[in-house]
Amino acid sequence: MPGLTVTNPLTGAPLYSLDEPGPEALAQIWAQARQAQAQMPALRERVAAVTRLQHLITERQEAIVDRIVAETGKSRFDALSSEIFGSLDACEYLARQAPKQLADEKVHTPLALLGKKSRLWHEPLGTVLVIAPWNYPFYQLLVPALSAFLAGNAVLLKPSELTPLKGLLEELLRAAGFPAQALQLVYGGKATGQALVEAGPDLIFFTGSVASGQKIMQAAAHKLTPVILELGGKDPMLVFEDVNLERTVNGALWGGLTTAGQSCTSVERLYVHQNIYAAFVDLLQAKMQQLRSVATHGEPAEIGNMTAPFQLQTIESQLAEAVQAGARILCGGAREPGSLYFPPTLVVDVTHSMALMREETFGPVLAVMPFADEAEAIALANDSSYGLSASVWSADLQRAERVARQLRVGNVSINNVMLTEANPALPFGGRKASGFGSYKGPRPLESFCSRKAVLIDSQSGKIEANWYPYTTARYQLFSQLVQSLFSARHSLLKMLRTGLRLESQAQKEKF
Ligand code: NAD
Repeated sequence: MPGLTVTNPLTGAPLYSLDEPGPEALAQIWAQARQAQAQMPALRERVAAVTRLQHLITERQEAIVDRIVAETGKSRFDALSSEIFGSLDACEYLARQAPKQLADEKVHTPLALLGKKSRLWHEPLGTVLVIAPWNYPFYQLLVPALSAFLAGNAVLLKPSELTPLKGLLEELLRAAGFPAQALQLVYGGKATGQALVEAGPDLIFFTGSVASGQKIMQAAAHKLTPVILELGGKDPMLVFEDVNLERTVNGALWGGLTTAGQSCTSVERLYVHQNIYAAFVDLLQAKMQQLRSVATHGEPAEIGNMTAPFQLQTIESQLAEAVQAGARILCGGAREPGSLYFPPTLVVDVTHSMALMREETFGPVLAVMPFADEAEAIALANDSSYGLSASVWSADLQRAERVARQLRVGNVSINNVMLTEANPALPFGGRKASGFGSYKGPRPLESFCSRKAVLIDSQSGKIEANWYPYTTARYQLFSQLVQSLFSARHSLLKMLRTGLRLESQAQKEKF
C-alpha cells in the first residue's frame, strides 16, 4: 500500500511516513485482538494499568506536548489544557468509576414474579474500533479507547493519517504495563479505516466529519455493527443584554479560537442582543487583534496553525461567498502566504443563507449576528442541521436555563463555553447531524458494554401460571389478575388472592 507523509504544520517539514497495513497485516491484527480479549486481565489489573498510564503521562507531559504540537501545529497551551489535562482527568474518573459500574446489579422484580431475582451483568462487547480525527489526536483516541478497555474489550485504535503520533501511545501503553495487544494502534488513512469497519468489529466509536460518519454507518449496516458517531458542529453562543461584557467577550474569543477553531464544539455562530451588539463587536475586535500567533510570534502565543491544508480552502471559500453576499470582515480574513497560519477573523453582517452560518467552518472565524429577543435567539440557534453544543450567557439564570432547555443540542454551557466537556461526569454526544450515542457521563462504560439481563428462579416441580395447557378456568383467573394489577380499581389484596388461586390452578392442570 502507498505511504502517507506526516508533516509539521508549523514548519512544513516532513516528519515521517506511514505504511498502510495490507490484508495480511490486518488479519493478524484481528487475530491478536481476539486473543487479547480472550485473555483480558481482571478489572483490578485493568484499572491499575490505567492509573499507571495516568502517572506516566504526567511524567512525560512536556515530551507528549512536543509531539502533539509538532503534528497538529496547535499552541502548547492548547495541547496541555485540552489534550493532556482532559486525558488525565478522564483516566482518573474512568478508573474510579469502572469498579462501581461493572459490578453486577440487583434490579427490581415485580410482585407478579414473586420469588424470583433479577440481575444486570455488564459484559465486554468483544473488539471495539476507535477511529479518531486530527484535531485532538491524543484525547479523542485515548479516552474512548480506555473506556472500552476498562469494560473488558480489546481495542483497535485508528488515528488520523494527518496526526498519527506514531509510536507515542504504543510506548506509553507498553511502559504502563498494559496487556500485550489489548490496545493496538493501526496506522493508515481512509482505506485502512474502511477495511477495519468492514471487518465487523463489535462496536465502532467514530469521531470525525459528517460525510465520513455517513459512510461508516452505511458500511457498518452490512454486519449490523453498532456505531457511536461523534460528528461535526456549528455551535451557537447566545449573549443577552445583561452580561458582563468583558468576561463574555473573553469567553467568545476563547470558545471561537481555541485550537485555531478546529474543535467540533468551537463557537462558530455568535448571536448578541441588539442593545449590546455594537459594544460587544467593538470589544471583540479589539481583543482579537491582540492575539499572538505561534507561527509569527513564537511561544507563548494563543493561536496555532491550521493542521490540515484542505481546511484552509473551506474557510476561504466560505468567507469569499459570505463577502460576496454582503458580509464584512472586521479583522483577519486572509492566510499568511506560504503558511498554514490563518489569522483570527471576525465577520459581521452575516445571514443564515450563507454557508458561513450553515456549514462547519472549523477554523479561527467568529461570525456575529444581532437578535431582538429571546424567541429570535432560540430560533436562530436551532436553525441548523447540527446539534452538538451551545452556550447561553445571561445574568438572569432563570432565563438562561429557559433558553438552554429549548436548544436542540447534546450539550449546553451556561455563562461559560465548551465547559460540559471539561467534566468527565457529564456525557458527551450530539443530536441531529452531530451524531448519536455518547461517552463519559455518570455511567461512562455503558456505551462499551453489553448489558445482560438475568432472571433467576429456583428449581421445583411447579409450572408457571401462563405455561401450557391453556384452560378456560386459568384464562378467567389470569384476566382477573390483569384487572387487579392494572385497572383503575386495582387492588393489592385482590391481586394476591387471585395470584394464589391462579398458581394453585396451574399446578393442578399441568400436563
Ligand atoms: P474525517 O471524517 O475526515 O476523518 C476522521 C477519521 O476517520 C480519520 O482517522 C480518517 O482516516 C477516518 N476515515 C475517514 N473516512 C473513513 C471511512 N470511510 N471509513 C473509515 N474511516 C474513515 O474527519 P477529520 O477531518 O479528521 O476531523 C474533523 C471532523 O471531526 C470535524 O467535522 C469535527 O467537527 C469532527 N470532530 C467531532 C468531534 C465530536 O466529538 N463530535 C470531536 C472532534 C472532531
